[in-house]
Amino acid sequence: MFKKVFVANRGEIALRVIRSCKELGLSTVIGFSEADRDTLPVELADEKICVGPAPASESYLNIPSIIGAIEITKAQAVHPGYGFLSENIQFVEICEASGITFIGPTSKNIQLMGDKALAKKTAKECKVPVVPGYEGSVLKEALAHARRIGFPVIIKASAGGGGRGMRKVNSADEFVKLWNTCQEEAKAAFGEGALYVEKFLERPRHIEIQLIGDKRGNIIVFPERDCSIQRRHQKLIEESPSPCVDRKLRKKLYRYAYRLAKRIGYQSTGTIEFLVDSYNSPYFIEMNTRIQVEHPITEIVSGIDLVKHQILVARGDKLPFSQKDINIRGHAIECRINAESPSKNFIPSPGRITKLVLPGGPGIRIDTHIYEGYTIPPYYDSLIVKLVAYGMNRAETIGRMQRALEEIKIEGIETTVPLYQRIFEHPIFLSGRYSTKWLENFLASEQEQIKREA
Ligand code: ADP
Repeated sequence: MFKKVFVANRGEIALRVIRSCKELGLSTVIGFSEADRDTLPVELADEKICVGPAPASESYLNIPSIIGAIEITKAQAVHPGYGFLSENIQFVEICEASGITFIGPTSKNIQLMGDKALAKKTAKECKVPVVPGYEGSVLKEALAHARRIGFPVIIKASAGGGGRGMRKVNSADEFVKLWNTCQEEAKAAFGEGALYVEKFLERPRHIEIQLIGDKRGNIIVFPERDCSIQRRHQKLIEESPSPCVDRKLRKKLYRYAYRLAKRIGYQSTGTIEFLVDSYNSPYFIEMNTRIQVEHPITEIVSGIDLVKHQILVARGDKLPFSQKDINIRGHAIECRINAESPSKNFIPSPGRITKLVLPGGPGIRIDTHIYEGYTIPPYYDSLIVKLVAYGMNRAETIGRMQRALEEIKIEGIETTVPLYQRIFEHPIFLSGRYSTKWLENFLASEQEQIKREA
């Protein structure tokens, strides 16, 4: 039974984990980089230890340094948050071998789902539909399959993630060239060049199912999240429930997610991702074996504290709720506010926050590590605030988000707030009939308009 948890992450998720630990009476140690010394997680954790210099490769991704820090501080468990070491098999194996409880799935779980091509094969084996494609790495065969399923197709890195390592291919002529480019990019970004191919769906929705499993084989699935508002395959806005999912589809998604998680004996929080086509047919694309950025909207809609139960199942506890306890209570939407400049092609906008006013009032939850006077370092991802609005239904939730986006003031840096204000006024977003393509099209049309007016 662990009593001290090492938090191997930074920013808002480190804070989120510390909060749950405190509520459970567990003490916390934060491992921070030199760039993160003056941050809220460092202030709020019970103990702190520096794990290395600013670059993540030398600190948050530095396995010997993190393991050393865990041993020095005598923490018995480690929470990896998302990103960094959260899905690193080697790290999890070291924890398992040294008696450190990894607050996440087993290394075996990650192995089975971390390789996206292998995950698709497993899904097929348990009769979960996948996007048609070819889960092999042989160029000649890949091209033959692409011809058979028809262009456009998408080439993906088996080890890919975070919206990177993917290329749409429109014709056989460009296939070989893009295959080689993808392979090189995958090797550079993920350390291995294995690729696979699937049919490119033109206007899908990204719908995902959160789940949690305990060590006794119980798996509970949660109402879907719609994460179709994306830029460059990266999520910006998420909502739950999805405006396009009816009861029949939801039941199907629950069944598929449950079946897949059960098959691999999944233990912890995780998410099964699907694309849903215009005929409302879902196709499995991948599983994320971690707590995700967008988990708060599920916590609100289900009333279940996911991080708390992730910690408890890691301790060996049985899940204290059953599937029939999971209902949809109202609606929730999250905006990921990034320190980026939307008018300059979303380049990062690090720097000092000179003024900060955070919204409040009914139906608003804020997960953030920033404060007035805080300097956003240039080394890490640009997420600074998760602004979540919730209400009885979608209309009330949107009204609250519009009001919160008006209230929020972050000065000294640029943020994506003005973009969200425009999205929350747009008839397509308001109608709920958007696909993963919509935001890119909207941004392109805005650019066109600016050019015309210039
Ligand atoms: P990652 O692991 O990098 O997040 P995913 O496989 O989950 O990659 O895909 C991320 C996003 O890329 C999806 O939400 C979707 O917008 C787009 N995408 C992925 N596969 C396809 C596909 N076959 N057709 C169209 N879009 C796709």
